[in-house]
Amino acid sequence: RELRVDLGERSYPIRIGEGLLGQAGQELLEAGLSVKSPLLVVSDDSVAPLYLEPLLEQLRSAGFRAASCVVPAGESSKSLARFEEIMTRALEEGLDRKSAIVALGGGVVGDLAGYAAASYMRGIRFVQMPTTILAHDSSVGGKVAVNHPMAKNIIGAFHQPALVLYDLDTLKTLPRREVSAGLAEVVKHGLIRDAAFVDWCVRHADRLLSLDPEALGYALFKGCEVKAAVVSADETEQDLRAILNLGHTIGHALEAVAGYGELLHGEAISIGMIGSALLGVQLGAPQEVYLRTREALGKAGLPVSLPEHFDTDRIMEAMMHDKKFGEGKMVFVVPTAIGEVEIRSDIREQWVRDIVERLK
Ligand code: NAD
Ligand code: ZN
Repeated sequence: RELRVDLGERSYPIRIGEGLLGQAGQELLEAGLSVKSPLLVVSDDSVAPLYLEPLLEQLRSAGFRAASCVVPAGESSKSLARFEEIMTRALEEGLDRKSAIVALGGGVVGDLAGYAAASYMRGIRFVQMPTTILAHDSSVGGKVAVNHPMAKNIIGAFHQPALVLYDLDTLKTLPRREVSAGLAEVVKHGLIRDAAFVDWCVRHADRLLSLDPEALGYALFKGCEVKAAVVSADETEQDLRAILNLGHTIGHALEAVAGYGELLHGEAISIGMIGSALLGVQLGAPQEVYLRTREALGKAGLPVSLPEHFDTDRIMEAMMHDKKFGEGKMVFVVPTAIGEVEIRSDIREQWVRDIVERLK
């Protein structure tokens, strides 16, 4: 399957299928990369032992000079220290203006390698090879960043990849919890733009959880399709792109309050999307919006309520801290129907507080 992010001269293909890493060299040549300039593949130390060597060999057999840089798995690698390490590797390997940095991994590797590509020599080409379900979201759209100890994703850029190469075979080694967490963003893309796809997700949840390649290929295609359409219409988040934040206002606050590792990003936004659905119903959407949201997320193996021990005051504080609050009102993405959302800037702090309580 293939689709495109449509951004004029910077348009790029998203290719989804089995066995794609086995033809990566050819794919890079077709994307316009030259074997004359070296490549740097960035990965993490969970993904690299599984997929890095075969990829490097494949690229070399297609005539590329390819080196690698492996960082520790986990969010803490989205740091300026790792960024500098990649710069050093890029210089050592002689990457030039026509080189590319390849991200082989999940969203962490994609964001880090992408930011490195955006900065090295003021920007060189960049290829995403996502290996998590969540990364269907992070690999499309060109938002790249590292974290500062005081704030997530605060040092970053918009830098679109030249190609997204999504090999479904790599997903077979994903831990079960990561599978569900990734499906949260898949369901999110349905909830904001595509009611029929939400129905499909409910009906085929079991196949998705068992990593049936055909079902997974379709789901990732549909998820990427929504993301690509939104990004094509509003690359730098002037307005429309904000709808992609459904469930994230509450979700980010939950992540901030949860102890390390207690909630994965997808799990936090699952609970956040239930909260947004409750808010939507309160503002006049049919009850079905809440019921269907809950069903779709529950079937994907995601949490749909908030563990009791989460403190409402701390969650509210984290939300205030996460900007977007002013004068007791906040900006919120709220569903009006399944497959439709609106951005409301009149959401009262007290309503949100009540909803956080109801989530428990
Ligand atoms: P991740 O990259 O940390 O991957 C999750 C875990 O799975 C890691 O431990 C990783 O080593 C492991 N893993 C990855 N692929 C594997 C495979 N095929 N087999 C076995 N293990 C594998 O996390 P993620 O959930 O993919 O991404 C989260 C990151 O994405 C966050 O930093 C978030 O900020 C970012 N993100 C960015 C955007 C964007 O638009 N740029 C959007 C959403 C999320
Ligand atoms: Zn997200």
